[in-house]
Amino acid sequence: MLEREREDWAMKSEALETLSTEEIMAWAFDTFQPQVALASSFQAEESVLIDIAQRLKVPNFRVFTLDTGRLNQETYDCMDALKERYGIQIEVFFPDARRVENMVKEHGLNLFYKSADLRKTCCGIRKIEPLNRALKELDAWVTGLRREQAVTRAQVKKIEIDRDHGNIVKLNPLADWTQKQVWDYIAAHDVPYNKLHDQGFSSIGCAPCTRAIKPWEDVRAGRWWWENPEAKECGLHVNSETMKTAEAPMD
Ligand code: SF4
Repeated sequence: MLEREREDWAMKSEALETLSTEEIMAWAFDTFQPQVALASSFQAEESVLIDIAQRLKVPNFRVFTLDTGRLNQETYDCMDALKERYGIQIEVFFPDARRVENMVKEHGLNLFYKSADLRKTCCGIRKIEPLNRALKELDAWVTGLRREQAVTRAQVKKIEIDRDHGNIVKLNPLADWTQKQVWDYIAAHDVPYNKLHDQGFSSIGCAPCTRAIKPWEDVRAGRWWWENPEAKECGLHVNSETMKTAEAPMD
């Protein structure tokens, strides 16, 4: 896609804000096929988007995920349940094995607890580099981000230009959904979801860096809980225009 075309989409983003989730999904997959895919870490939001795509009968619907090597078994189970239910293929991107080996050799397996810098090093190798590889082939990507998930996501637009990933189009069709809407949808359509949610996990990530939360805690409180809440993104969803305070997160 030409740079000028991407800027045209950016110009239209305010008008596109008024579109429904289904309209944005239909528009996105109509416009950008086959260079468009849903990024999933198998959170409830992405289960919703996969179900919506199937209802819209999106042809050649693409989903990709990043397997950091530190995921929970429940996440792999969710991946299999979605594949079975909807008959979809999921593209899995792994980190570079040599870089992981060197990192572990130098800093140990649990380096993320030692310092914020080492945590970012781990996210960089296990998540950001594979994400960059996945996005390199795309003109647009779709996420399950919602504004109420975190202070670092409050400004998320339904359609953005992703300046941090080669100026491709980034679509967040659930940006204005509430947590209740997500769970009402899942219940109404009997959508497969990650069973970690039943154990109190509001957010799904790597096993050592994600914990269940208490009912009164912020939905992102279970991620890197030992760090400053205003800066704890891993670099996958940082937008240089709307998330300036975030450090550099699929989640
Ligand atoms: Fe590493 Fe934790 Fe980041 Fe996963 S979330 S890539 S284990 S630091």
